[in-house]
Amino acid sequence: MSKVLIVAEHHDGKLNAATAKCVSAAQALKPEAIEIVVLAADPAAVAAQAAQIAGCTRVLAVANPANAQPIAQVLAPQVAKLAVGYSHVFGPSTTFGKDLMPCVAALLGVAQVSDVMKVEGTHTFLRPIYAGNALLTVEAPSDVSVVATIRTASWPAAGGGGSAAVDAVSVDAALPTHTRFVALKAGKSDRPDLQSASRVVSGGRAFGSADNFKILYSLADKLGAGVGASRAAVDAGYVPNDMQVGQTGKIISPELYIAIGISGAIQHLTGIKDAGTIVAINKDGDAPIFEIADIGLVGDLFKLVPEFEAAL
Ligand SMILES: Cc1cc2nc3c(=O)[nH]c(=O)nc-3n(C[C@H](O)[C@H](O)[C@H](O)COP(=O)(O)OP(=O)(O)OC[C@H]3O[C@@H](n4cnc5c(N)ncnc54)[C@H](O)[C@@H]3O)c2cc1C
Repeated sequence: MSKVLIVAEHHDGKLNAATAKCVSAAQALKPEAIEIVVLAADPAAVAAQAAQIAGCTRVLAVANPANAQPIAQVLAPQVAKLAVGYSHVFGPSTTFGKDLMPCVAALLGVAQVSDVMKVEGTHTFLRPIYAGNALLTVEAPSDVSVVATIRTASWPAAGGGGSAAVDAVSVDAALPTHTRFVALKAGKSDRPDLQSASRVVSGGRAFGSADNFKILYSLADKLGAGVGASRAAVDAGYVPNDMQVGQTGKIISPELYIAIGISGAIQHLTGIKDAGTIVAINKDGDAPIFEIADIGLVGDLFKLVPEFEAAL
């Protein structure tokens, strides 16, 4: 029988929804236990949230001042020590998990299974390759722990209502000092978080300037949507890079995605494969984005977007 350890992602005392998505993926293994480890300076609040996830059987709370910041090099030795006895160790395929889990895999001497989008067997998984243009079935060895990242866009969050036990656990692992936290610089926004928003409005190179993006922000605010962008818009400096959607940006799965002035390059589309309804506005009726759009408007965005907003 499988026994799964999930590494909780959290920030400012709040559990990230990606953790509940990892629980859904773990449930697909039909394991005997799903345990969540919370590594923090003071893990109590996050551990209590993790305990409520339906399907979680136990929470391990690891309190250590060294865990105040999610530094992969500090967390990985602790996760690797805790991994003993678990058949699977999962983390989300977010920036946090993509940073941490390869370090865990390396310390355990196993190859990581990345971006799990479907569980086909206890050691057989489906994952996307070539920017999502092909799906690959991978089989992990069954005589070692499986270390995997879970493609959060492919899994629903497990529900609440659980009441797992929370156990304080201490880990005897040598923590390196070569990697230290210096500072966190994060953009502040009152808009919904891009990765968890149910509606996202994205803009591309066609906007032509940072100033022109104001019409996109205005539409997004009217819709209560998160805001994304193509890489071309990021590279041109119109928006910060944490807004990038796609293969080298964020993989998202909103219920509604509105792509404005975005051509629909495969690297962009890989980020929205799991979106619900896709709306595209583009002046070129042959733009590839229309091949995947459910609703398409052909025309000049500078005319259509204000009209669209006025109609809301
Ligand atoms: C390894 C690699 C990784 C990459 N990762 C990513 C990624 O993560 N995300 C990503 O987005 N890209 C990524 N790219 C880049 C990708 O290939 C494209 O270059 C990029 O997505 C194009 O952005 P765009 O659609 O905004 O620009 P363009 O391709 O220039 O398209 C602009 C679109 O706007 C339309 N348009 C112009 N003016 C107007 C107007 N006034 N009104 C309406 N429509 C108008 C045009 O018809 C056109 O379709 C990656 C590329 C590589 C090689």
